[in-house]
Amino acid sequence: MSEFSNPSEIARETLRQLALRRTPPTPDNYLRLYHEIAGTTPTEATFPERFVRQIARRIPRDTAERLRLARQLDQALSDSDAAGGERALTQYLDCLSGEKPPAWSELIGNLLRQWEGRQLGWTTARKRDSLDRVLSASDASALYTRLQSLLRAWGQAPIDPEQPAPETTDAVAPITQQALPSVPTRSIREPDPRSEMDPGALVPALRDLLALAMESVAPAFLGGHPDLLSDTRLIATAARDAADVQTLDTVGRQLRKFAHRLELAAADDAEVRDGLLKLLRLLLQNIDELVIDDQWLQGQVEMLRELIDQPTTPRLIDDAGRRLKEVIYKQSQLKHNLAQAQTMLRDMLAGFVDQLASFAQSTGSYHDRMGACAQKIASARDVSEIGQVLDEVMTETRAIQHQAGRSRDELSAAQRRAGAAEAQIAEMQKELDEASRLVRHDQLTGSLNRRGLEEVFEREAARAQRHNIPICIALLDIDNFKKLNDTLGHQTGDEALIHLTRTVRQHLRPQDALARYGGEEFVIVLPETTLEQAGQTLVRLQRELTRAFFMAGDQRLVITFSAGVTPRAHGEMLDAVLARADAAMYEAKQSGKNRVTSRDIAQTSDGETPRAPE
Ligand code: GH3
Ligand code: MG
Ligand code: MG
Repeated sequence: MSEFSNPSEIARETLRQLALRRTPPTPDNYLRLYHEIAGTTPTEATFPERFVRQIARRIPRDTAERLRLARQLDQALSDSDAAGGERALTQYLDCLSGEKPPAWSELIGNLLRQWEGRQLGWTTARKRDSLDRVLSASDASALYTRLQSLLRAWGQAPIDPEQPAPETTDAVAPITQQALPSVPTRSIREPDPRSEMDPGALVPALRDLLALAMESVAPAFLGGHPDLLSDTRLIATAARDAADVQTLDTVGRQLRKFAHRLELAAADDAEVRDGLLKLLRLLLQNIDELVIDDQWLQGQVEMLRELIDQPTTPRLIDDAGRRLKEVIYKQSQLKHNLAQAQTMLRDMLAGFVDQLASFAQSTGSYHDRMGACAQKIASARDVSEIGQVLDEVMTETRAIQHQAGRSRDELSAAQRRAGAAEAQIAEMQKELDEASRLVRHDQLTGSLNRRGLEEVFEREAARAQRHNIPICIALLDIDNFKKLNDTLGHQTGDEALIHLTRTVRQHLRPQDALARYGGEEFVIVLPETTLEQAGQTLVRLQRELTRAFFMAGDQRLVITFSAGVTPRAHGEMLDAVLARADAAMYEAKQSGKNRVTSRDIAQTSDGETPRAPE
């Protein structure tokens, strides 16, 4: 037992001993010495208390509840209120174990939605700044809390009607805008196994979200674009597998490229829709025009069937529209002429009948008059009376003779005209049947005519410009064609032209267009083709033409051509491109024929590229 009974005496002695023993006066040393002097043992609570103090200093105070309980614990410790401390600590631990892990997927979904929202006082730039600050949090749970409060701040701000639509500063934005209102809302809110994940899994969660958007959102808009659809799957897989910033960066680049292509595809889709509407209108107009013969419809129906049977592209619809327009124009012209010819024939027949009637009438009155003359002759008393009657008979007979002659002439002329009109009608009827098949093309070779070329060029040039892709023109001229005509005849020449057209068409891509530019000159429009590729294409065509003999009777002939190829400069008109292609073709002829010469945009004779007024 200690010699000191009074606690204040024990305390005083403890301090004295600390000084004497030169022991550092820490609370622990003080406590140990105090018990030594008092002759007591340290209470059970001392060690846990120290331990609890350490815990109290370190526990996170990052939510309102945690902060409240931590403060209770502090208070209990400073009051040496063991029961209060125990209560606070137990509650804190309960709170920890009862807390759900942060729902990151929900938070990110919310972030995406709020980012798109238009909150008063929150411009995109300001949002980006505040988000940057929040993202600098080192601790995942702090990041979670700060993100939550940031979103609360955005969510509580009233809607700003003045604010423009969300910024689309990068190419990814259009996808986000399209995708967010529908699928992500549903997918993100679904109970997600990822919400059970460690809070540190933010990046994988974001990657998964991106993959989800690519797999479930984008395809909904891509029914007609299988190539883009396969891209979404590739990007989704790449996003899921991206293990570091570098690979994620690559995914970002892929995504931007994809978004750009998506934009172009959307423009094409819009064009397809407009084209289809126009086409339908034209078709209705055309059906309206048709009255007489079913054959008039054959070409159009066939064309529509072709169009339906293959995947539709703006190019095909454009082409079909042009064909219908031409057919309608030609048919309406022919119909007008046909109606005129029919009216003429009807009028002539009516005239013919009138002539017959009046002739019959004339001959009838002649008969009467002759009867009267005969009576006069029978009752004549002298020769002079008979002479007068004979004069009358002669005059009447001459008159009737004259009229008969005139009628005969008129009738045979009418007959000739009727025959001609009939032939004309038959010819036009035939033309009408042909019209729906041939009108868009050069009649001999079936390739596009000059008007067709102009239309194709205009359309393809605009598309190339819009998509910023190259387009080339080739001008080809058959070598020594005059000689072929002279030696084997014009008919064989014609067949050679058809042979060339068929062979060239067989070896061109569907998007390339072949037009007959003049006699034995042809133009090829090559969309999405560089100058180098265009040159190679023409050389390939030369090779194919040499392989495919032209049979003139039983003679095997090889037809060759010389060609000039050139790209179209931005904004350039067909004539300017053709002039350059022609110069290149001339060069090919000069250097020995059966060649292909390329000429780039800068190589015009005056060194300048002729431009269309923009
Ligand atoms: P080069 O190798 O220099 O081009 O000589 P070429 O004989 O091919 O050229 P040229 O311009 O001297 O002659 C072209 C010939 O093409 C003249 C013309 O009679 C013939 N031609 C033009 N159109 C037709 C057509 O529709 N049918 C036929 N059979 N011949 C045609
Ligand atoms: Mg020529
Ligand atoms: Mg020629």
